[in-house]
Amino acid sequence: MKIGFAKVGTTAIPFEISKGSLKFSGTLRKFSRYLIELEAKMTGDLEVPCDICAEAFIHAVNEGVKFHLSDGLSKVGNESLEDIVEIEDSMIDLDELLVSELELYKSNYFSCEECENSD
Ligand SMILES: [Zn+2]
Repeated sequence: MKIGFAKVGTTAIPFEISKGSLKFSGTLRKFSRYLIELEAKMTGDLEVPCDICAEAFIHAVNEGVKFHLSDGLSKVGNESLEDIVEIEDSMIDLDELLVSELELYKSNYFSCEECENSD
């Protein structure tokens, strides 16, 4: 799902996409002249490896995400926000954003039920 940067105004636009058993739903809203705020929830089941025993297990995801999208970082100037993601061709590619949020999420520490119960 792609949305043009210029199409997003101050009225929040809801979106919902899914990838496998994961759902990414939230809103896009114009934050300032060159920034759009994305607020969303990532929910569903994700197979991750346990950081202790390395066995894959199903982890239930329920994560809120919030960041800003910029149509060209050079225009943002002195808006000192750290969580800015630059988009390409003035198009917001929600599928691509979900994939990168997921990769980020996967870098967290996970432990399976068995390892959790064995300390
Ligand atoms: Zn384990």
